Amino acid sequence: MKTLPGKELAAAVRAQTRAEAAAGPQPRLAVVVATADEASLWYVRSIAKAAAGVGIACDLVDLGPDAAPDQIGETLARLSADTNVHGVMMQTPLPAGASAQELAGAIDPRKDVDGANPLSLGRLAAGLPAFPPATAAAVMALLDHHEVELEGRRVVVVGRSTVVGKPLAHLLLDRNATVTVCHSRTRDLASVTSTAEVLVAAAGRAGLIGAAHVAPGAVVIDVGTNPTEDGGLTGDVASGEVAAVAGALTPVPGGVGPVTTALLLRHTARAANLP
Ligand code: NAD
Repeated sequence: MKTLPGKELAAAVRAQTRAEAAAGPQPRLAVVVATADEASLWYVRSIAKAAAGVGIACDLVDLGPDAAPDQIGETLARLSADTNVHGVMMQTPLPAGASAQELAGAIDPRKDVDGANPLSLGRLAAGLPAFPPATAAAVMALLDHHEVELEGRRVVVVGRSTVVGKPLAHLLLDRNATVTVCHSRTRDLASVTSTAEVLVAAAGRAGLIGAAHVAPGAVVIDVGTNPTEDGGLTGDVASGEVAAVAGALTPVPGGVGPVTTALLLRHTARAANLP
């Protein structure tokens, strides 16, 4: 079985982004945070560090875990109106009672570098230019980088979130894949996923995809990032047993994750250069 790493691709995307960022006024990304969740705070700090590495300014706008939905919405609107800010991202989770979908409507679609505004998803579905969520874009970039053919092939996506599964289904359809989307109510998951030539696992359930879920020789992309007891990360794919069946598999960590961050920054550099 082949391993499909993301680090090399992420490095190439970063190099390209560094050049794009240096070509005009310095791009600026604002990340709005309203949580005390350690993993999320770690993630936004890692974005800021990666941004600095490619010459993008990054402001962490921390509203605290008790922020009111109105305050979050107003902050997103203010940053969207700020001509010095080119990309606006809202980190989840949000405080109880705040709807990410509703609030993301306050992000200007031209600055919506993580494809969170429902307008961006709608435009994507309609085949119009829009920033896709960085994770969905990362899956496509990894498939292309490793030269996985999509035209006419059976692709199964496990997960229907607006962050990964739904936008990814549209991106795959645009490439003429035959797409099936599974979710928590899908009956007999293995009977569907085992028909896939390309299987994408994005459910957030450690080890959900076992050998019985995978067709011999299938390409398996593991989007899941589930924390382990020892402070590490594990995917949605039981990699040990799946490795014996699949043709190719992305590692966790080191697969989709690094490409996601790199593409978020590339989107920011592109947003800064929009006419
Ligand atoms: P989510 O909780 O919003 O959505 C999960 C989806 O999986 C839902 O549509 C649900 O119906 C489906 N699902 C849950 N249990 C299932 C089951 N037993 N069988 C079939 N389907 C099931 O999660 P999300 O935000 O889409 O994230 C999914 C995973 O991807 C998480 O592990 C998350 O941490 C990870 N993620 C990784 C990156 C990255 O850069 N690598 C970025 C974003 C999300």
